[in-house]
Amino acid sequence: STREWQQMDAAHHLHPFSDAASLNAQGCRVITHADGVYLWDSEGNKIFDAMSGLWCVNIGYGRKELAEVAYQQMLELPFYNTFFKTTHPPVVELSALLAEVAPEGFNHVFYTNSGSEGNDTVIRMVRHYWASLGQPSKKTIISRINGYHGSTIGGASLGGMSYMHEQGDLPIPGIVHIEQPYWYANGGDLTPEEYGLKAARELEKKILELGVENVAAFIGEPVQGAGGIIIPPSTYWPEIQRICDQYGILLVADEVICGFGRTGHWFGSQYFGIRPHLMTIAKGLSSGYQPIGGVLVHDQVAKVLAESGDFNHGFTYSGHPVAAAVAAENIRILKRERIIEKMREDVMPYAHKLWHDAFDNHPLVDDVRTLGFFFAVTLVEDKASRKRYANGGELALRCRDICFANNLVMRATGDSMISAPPLTMTRAEADEFVAKAKACVDQLARELGRL
Ligand code: PLP
Repeated sequence: STREWQQMDAAHHLHPFSDAASLNAQGCRVITHADGVYLWDSEGNKIFDAMSGLWCVNIGYGRKELAEVAYQQMLELPFYNTFFKTTHPPVVELSALLAEVAPEGFNHVFYTNSGSEGNDTVIRMVRHYWASLGQPSKKTIISRINGYHGSTIGGASLGGMSYMHEQGDLPIPGIVHIEQPYWYANGGDLTPEEYGLKAARELEKKILELGVENVAAFIGEPVQGAGGIIIPPSTYWPEIQRICDQYGILLVADEVICGFGRTGHWFGSQYFGIRPHLMTIAKGLSSGYQPIGGVLVHDQVAKVLAESGDFNHGFTYSGHPVAAAVAAENIRILKRERIIEKMREDVMPYAHKLWHDAFDNHPLVDDVRTLGFFFAVTLVEDKASRKRYANGGELALRCRDICFANNLVMRATGDSMISAPPLTMTRAEADEFVAKAKACVDQLARELGRL
C-alpha cells in the first residue's frame, strides 16, 4: 500500500537534493507508472508531468520500442566494455547516429553514464588537450554563477550553485565563475542587448585577469536550466563566441538539457548559432529510458586526442550496450517521427502563445519566458520596478506544492516557476498544461491578496 511504501522509503532511502526530515514527515508520493505526458501515483491520481521527469523524457513515457530494444540487447549482449580494443554493435551504431544528428565537425563521442560524469570528462579532456599541445598551464575553466553542471565533485565545482559549494568544500582549484546572463535580475537600466554584451565581456575580463596562458575553456548551458530557465539576451552568445575565438580558448556547451530537441533544434548551440568544441550530452540522449551521457568532440579536439596516446579516463559502463541500444532507438524515433521539427512548427508556437496569453498580464508574475519547450515566469512584487519578493524562493515552493496537489509537476527555482514538458505534448495537452499552471499561479496570487 502507499503507506507501506512510504514507511519503507523513509526507513531506508536517502533521496537526492532532499531534506530527509521534512520529506519523511510528509511522506513521498509514490509514482507507479507513466504514459505520454502523464504519470500515475499509487493512489490512482493522474499527474501532468510538465518537467519530463528531470528534463529528460523528451519523447514521452511508454514507448514500447525502447523496452523491446533493451530486452533484445540484454538477451544478446547485456554487457561488454569498450576499454581494451573491443567494441560492440550498439555503441558503434549510436556513435554513427550521433555524428549524423550533431552539428558539422562533431564526428566523435566519449561515453559516460550521466551528465555529471560528462562534465568531469570535459575537465580532464580539455586539460589533456592543452597539455598534449605543450601548454600544460592552460588548466583553468571558466563557468557561470547559477550554472548547473552536475553533482560529482567536478560537476558541482563547474556549477555555480553556492549552496552546493558550501557542502564538500567546493569548487576544486582551477575553476572560476563569472556572472550569469540574467537581464531581469542584473540588467539594471541597460537594455537586454546592452546587458548581454556586458555579461559576456565578464569572460574577457576574467581571461585577462587570469592570463590567457592559464585558461583552458569556458563552459555554459545554452539556456541555463536548473538555474531557472535563464534565456540570455540575443547579444550574449555571439559575444562569448567572439571572445573564445579571439583568445583561442575552448568553448564547451553543456547540452545536457538543451540537447535532443528542447530548444526546437537538435542542440541548443544550433539555436544560438554557436560553434563549441565540446558538447556534454545526457538526459534526452536516451529520453531518460536508460542512464547514459557523454561528450561530443569536435574534429579539432579529436585530432589532437588521437595523436596524444592514452587518455587515462573511462567508466565500466562507458557505452553500455543496453543503454547505447536504447539511446540509438530513441534517436531513430526522434528522426523517423520528426518529433523536433513537428514540435517546432506546430505545438511550440501554439503553446508559447497560450503561455503569454495566460501570464503576460498576470499581476503576480513577470519576465514571462518561452523558448522551445521551456516555459517560465518569475513571481514579482511590483512589475514596473522589477521588484522581487524578499521571500520569493518560499513563495515559489508554495506554488510548486499547489501545482503538485493539483496533479501538475512544475519546478520552483529561486523565485521562478519553470517547466519543460515532453516534446510530444499535443495542442490539447498544451491547453491542459497552461490552464492548470495558470489556475495554480492564480491560487497563490489569491493567497497573497494579489488577485
Ligand atoms: N548539466 C546540466 C545542464 C544538467 O541540467 C544536469 C542535470 O540536471 C547535469 C549536467 C548533470 O546530469 P546528471 O544528473 O545526469 O549527472
